[in-house]
Amino acid sequence: MVEHVVIIGSGPSGWTAAIYASRASLNPLVFEGAITEENRQAGTLPLGQLALTTEVENYPGFPAGDLEVYLDSSIEKSRRQYMAPHMKEGVSGPELMELMKQQALNFGTRVITDDIVEVDFDVRPFKLTALSGEVTAAHTVIIATGASANYLGLESEHNFKNRGVSACAVCDGALPRFRDQPVIVIGGGDSAVEEADYLSKFATKVMLVHRRDELRASKIMAQRALDNPKIEVIWNSQCIEVLGNDETGVTGAKLQSTLDDTITEVAATGFFVAIGHTPNTPFLDGALDINEKGYVTWTESHRTSTSVPGVFAAGDVADDYYRQAVTAAGTGCSAALDAERYLAANGL
Ligand code: NAP
Repeated sequence: MVEHVVIIGSGPSGWTAAIYASRASLNPLVFEGAITEENRQAGTLPLGQLALTTEVENYPGFPAGDLEVYLDSSIEKSRRQYMAPHMKEGVSGPELMELMKQQALNFGTRVITDDIVEVDFDVRPFKLTALSGEVTAAHTVIIATGASANYLGLESEHNFKNRGVSACAVCDGALPRFRDQPVIVIGGGDSAVEEADYLSKFATKVMLVHRRDELRASKIMAQRALDNPKIEVIWNSQCIEVLGNDETGVTGAKLQSTLDDTITEVAATGFFVAIGHTPNTPFLDGALDINEKGYVTWTESHRTSTSVPGVFAAGDVADDYYRQAVTAAGTGCSAALDAERYLAANGL
């Protein structure tokens, strides 16, 4: 049997592609990822990065807070009947992902809980090999394996994930635990200065901890951070331990000077790591074009096509710039439509 559409990955882009492909009667098959200790460590378990976060406040259609009050105050009474009565508190990352998966299942999407570990795009139909050893043939493939945020790799950092440690200020920065409190951002690139700037809207003070004496960020963005009175750059320093306790989560960090090894402690309720992302593309192993940072290259403007006709990419695996759930869902939709048109054009 040859599959019409195989989707590799199960974040917002993968499920959105599955919803569109299944509604187009393409009977898609999703490889949602394997549940292995290796994937747990790497943050690449099924349902993607959103499943590793808590509240989601920026996905349209899921306002946070008491939804009952929101619906009563903002939606005409006659339209209230269409609103889900059970939704009271917005949505959490894992809930949103389960809802997307269920939405795809409702239209008949088939799911295999396994990784694709090898691809052969030189043959038609394409050949995909799973971790289990099973081989699947497919006319089109949508790569939606996302990217993983890089962490420092400290045990203490791991212990406080979602309890003050985050790799996404835009996702988590406005949460109550970070408001009117000092927070730390690690990194010196555009992400770090952008996150520091964003967090300065909520925090009393943002300590930007960078391991060198010069920011990597673009001049204009670096200057914005340096001019922001709420941002203090702690130069030539690296974090050696995230401090905290079971009750309150993160309380600060232990920093070490990269010049003379001096150790200092700083107090903070938030510890944001912004040291880059790694796209989940090693399994592609040269089968299609990736850029110098490892992201799949989109070969046509406003399309999800890749260097191999019939293979499409969606979400963070091809986007190191926006990296939002909503933009990933958007390109997931595009990839399904692109695959559908490719199949039709090739009489498949
Ligand atoms: P990046 O440019 O690779 O910067 C990563 C930063 O993290 C560097 O400053 C690096 O330090 C530091 N770092 C890496 N590993 C570390 C470690 N183990 N310990 C401490 N620090 C570490 O990554 P990015 O900032 O995520 O940006 C990625 C891409 O997206 C860039 O091309 C960027 O221009 C783009 N971007 C653009 C915007 C925008 O224009 N609005 C916003 C965000 C991102 P060193 O400098 O010492 O190497």
